[in-house]
Amino acid sequence: MAVTRTFSIIKPDATRRNLTGAVTKMLEDAGLRVIASKRIQMTREQAEGFYAVHKERPFFGDLVTFMTSGPVVVQVLEGEDAVARNRKVMGATNPSDAEEGTIRKTYAESIEANSVHGSDSEENAATEIDFFFDKDEIVG
Ligand code: GDP
Repeated sequence: MAVTRTFSIIKPDATRRNLTGAVTKMLEDAGLRVIASKRIQMTREQAEGFYAVHKERPFFGDLVTFMTSGPVVVQVLEGEDAVARNRKVMGATNPSDAEEGTIRKTYAESIEANSVHGSDSEENAATEIDFFFDKDEIVG
């Protein structure tokens, strides 16, 4: 299977509870390597742009408020079949539906404050990586 890249965000509910290391360990234990990482305070503009696909959804305003409520850690992850591998270790969007041993089952607070974002396709991964990282910030 090919080594590919995906994009991850450790969300404000997790950074607030000092879970950056714990979440990253679960990603690493799942066979993913962190090849770029930075802690940022997302602006409202960035959050609205990043989640533009959801702008008609009823929770869009709340989601943008949540994602700008504290620092996040944006990461590029590399590994075999990285997009699917990351989605598997993240678990379902709603933590009450997530499988045991997943990040969201272990740490998420709610369907909104669900600790991590992960790209859902290789195409979106490439777009999302470009949204937050310059090429020279990614060291594989
Ligand atoms: P993901 O790919 O599993 O992150 O899920 P989606 O792309 O469907 O949703 C993006 C993000 O929006 C989720 O990770 C949640 O933080 C938030 N979200 C999704 N569904 C809901 C909802 O029904 N209510 C609220 N408040 N937030 C939601």
